[in-house]
Amino acid sequence: MTAMRGSCHCGTVQFTVTLSDGIASARRCDCSLCARRGAVAVSAAKDDITYTAGRENLTLYQFNTKVAEHYFCKTCGIYTHHRRRSNPDEVGVNLACLEGQTPFLAEVLVHDGQNHPNDTGKDLDAGILRFTPTKDTS
Ligand SMILES: [Zn+2]
Repeated sequence: MTAMRGSCHCGTVQFTVTLSDGIASARRCDCSLCARRGAVAVSAAKDDITYTAGRENLTLYQFNTKVAEHYFCKTCGIYTHHRRRSNPDEVGVNLACLEGQTPFLAEVLVHDGQNHPNDTGKDLDAGILRFTPTKDTS
């Protein structure tokens, strides 16, 4: 895998990252934070993300068990990446922040973050949800 360049919206925070499994790791999550954030995350080892500018402009948000570390730019508010609760040696990176990538994929698997593997003891991949778009009948 080659390193990709990423940035927040205002460009203050810039980084390079080498994804562990490329775009194939793209996932959403339905936990209370991710459902609101709406971002598609891709995986990388924690040490495979390198800040090239603006690291000091990142701010940290934590909730619930406060194990996961959710980072976003304090100027433009864009989520760049988070250190995972399920595997603290790993980060999820906002696919939309990566140069030349799009979050508008035909299908993105969804982790069952409402029943987190650390709470249920289930394998992370056991909690994959598939949502089929349905016609709005309201
Ligand atoms: Zn920014």
